[in-house]
Amino acid sequence: MANELILIVEDNEKNRKLVRDILLFKKYELLESETAEEGIRLAREKKPALILMDFHLPGMNGIEAFKVLRADPQTSSIPIIAVTASAMTEDRKRIIDAGFDGLQTKPINIKEFLEAVAAVLSKRAGAA
Ligand code: MN
Repeated sequence: MANELILIVEDNEKNRKLVRDILLFKKYELLESETAEEGIRLAREKKPALILMDFHLPGMNGIEAFKVLRADPQTSSIPIIAVTASAMTEDRKRIIDAGFDGLQTKPINIKEFLEAVAAVLSKRAGAA
């Protein structure tokens, strides 16, 4: 399936452009935010099929945003994949423990990234 709406929360313009280009090429629809706060607002308003969440963000970080989204019935069922530049074992552990639907490490591997996106979206479609 294509055309699903995906929300990208990423403060780095270069990283956001790469993810945007890859997903647009695959015909996904996109929403973008540079902060967790704006991302949460967009998620509530637009109900994307998937959220790609950077870890390090200017205000609230990716894990804090994840917790807010999970606690809100309007957004609690939206799958969220963490995307982090950090190779830090401690950050990875925090992300996995938080219960994200996936974890992609930057620089992203395009093939693996797209497979992870498609897998989460198809799982969601199957559950609906
Ligand atoms: Mn960042």
